[in-house]
Amino acid sequence: MSTTDNKEQGIAPPTGDMSAAEFRRYGYKIVDWIADYFERIEQLPVLSQAEPGELVSQLPTAAPANGESMDDILRDIDRLILPAVTHWSHPSFFAYFSTSTSAPGIFGEMLSAAFDMKAMLWRTSPASTELEEVALRWLRQLMNLPPEFEGIIYDTASVSSMHAVAAARERLNLRIREDGMSGRDDLPLLRVYVSEQAHSSIEKGVITLGLGQRSLCKVQTDAEFRMDAEALRQAIEDDKARGAIPCCVVATVGTTSTSSIDPVNAIADICAEHGVWLHVDAAYAGSAALVPELQPLMAGCERADSLVTNPHKWLFTPFDLSVLYCRDMEMLRRAFSLVPEYLRTTESSDAVRNGMDYGIQLGRRFRALKLWMILRYFGHHGLAARLREHCRLARLFASWVEQSSDWELLAPTPFSLVCFRACPAKPDEPHDARATRLDALNETLMNNINSTGAAYLSHTRLGDVFTLRLAIGNIRTTEAHISRVWELLNEEAARLS
Ligand code: PLP
Repeated sequence: MSTTDNKEQGIAPPTGDMSAAEFRRYGYKIVDWIADYFERIEQLPVLSQAEPGELVSQLPTAAPANGESMDDILRDIDRLILPAVTHWSHPSFFAYFSTSTSAPGIFGEMLSAAFDMKAMLWRTSPASTELEEVALRWLRQLMNLPPEFEGIIYDTASVSSMHAVAAARERLNLRIREDGMSGRDDLPLLRVYVSEQAHSSIEKGVITLGLGQRSLCKVQTDAEFRMDAEALRQAIEDDKARGAIPCCVVATVGTTSTSSIDPVNAIADICAEHGVWLHVDAAYAGSAALVPELQPLMAGCERADSLVTNPHKWLFTPFDLSVLYCRDMEMLRRAFSLVPEYLRTTESSDAVRNGMDYGIQLGRRFRALKLWMILRYFGHHGLAARLREHCRLARLFASWVEQSSDWELLAPTPFSLVCFRACPAKPDEPHDARATRLDALNETLMNNINSTGAAYLSHTRLGDVFTLRLAIGNIRTTEAHISRVWELLNEEAARLS
């Protein structure tokens, strides 16, 4: 009997969950809804056309006293929620790092929600703990990373990298776990080195760990946005000379703005020389290691102490799932393990892994299930073919940009991200006026295209130049979508010039 039936008959609300029959009925309906959604997604505007506050203003200010019918709830998903969705699964979503879910990943999420396990101890979640080991071993092998790397799943790269820096700090043996960092005269400045193109998540991790922003050293980059290894060496030597302690270097393979690749081998040499922890942020580009011919771009990663890659970025895994590989998991355990009486179990920590020992979270979602299902469903060759195609599409788009005198590339395209801008000429224009005109033109161009809902691009600034970014990573994106956005860009640029 449904909640609505009870309400109509004026009896006390039922206890317990939805009946199996009702679950089945709405479960099939929701799966149909999702299949229809993917079939019609191209008719929806990529960027939600909702105004700020629009959804809130259409929903009641308080939760219902009595349960409502699933039919009413689903109707509101169509009527109210859908218009406020920016469709990350749309094949013309080219902003940020374009990512996408996939059918096996969605099924994995459904099953994981049904099991609802909190993978803190092996005992509370043997399947989650052991499937995590298996899926991460498979992924490591596919990425051609060394067997010494053990993996752990967190939610996001921000959290993975924060844990890596915490492990690096633990390795310094400064009793920070016990004594903290405040009120200590015996603690010199600890330094974390990134390139000036590194993701802001590293700085946030440094803030979270109490190291403070002054601990972060942003090393200059070269003309192709890669960390200048000699400048890193100099920074480390200068820091040591003034008594600071180098704690961790974060190299990026696939930076957020341009997908540039830091010289990991040269950086690894410097880290080895100075005994500094090397963490590689391959949040986006790590997936490219599944494509054999792209593996050389990862050279040196095998020498890192830790590496993060995000299957939720470019491996068709529904958000969230970030993998941290670490050469010495004991550092993470030393930094984070804390076992109160009520969580003690008889399994020895040599025999089983208890996920709660390796991070700030106690309960952990069963994320490994969706990754394992994706690896099985698509297989290595299926995944590599999709990633390879994304890179081909990016190179194709970049070739159109290069061949046109009205457009220019602003960074190399090693993976599936193109950085470019419109640059129609105007005779006898002074340099500064040109720079201002092109910045304004490209910003308007991007905003106008995004507001049509036909495609969604984002931007960055490179050397103070407003730069358009076309990121390809969606499982549904084809050459037709790339051609269409190129047409749109040209039409709009012609209209604005
Ligand atoms: N690192 C890089 C290179 C990124 O591009 C991003 C996000 O785009 C992140 C880290 C942060 O990712 P997350 O959202 O998983 O924290």
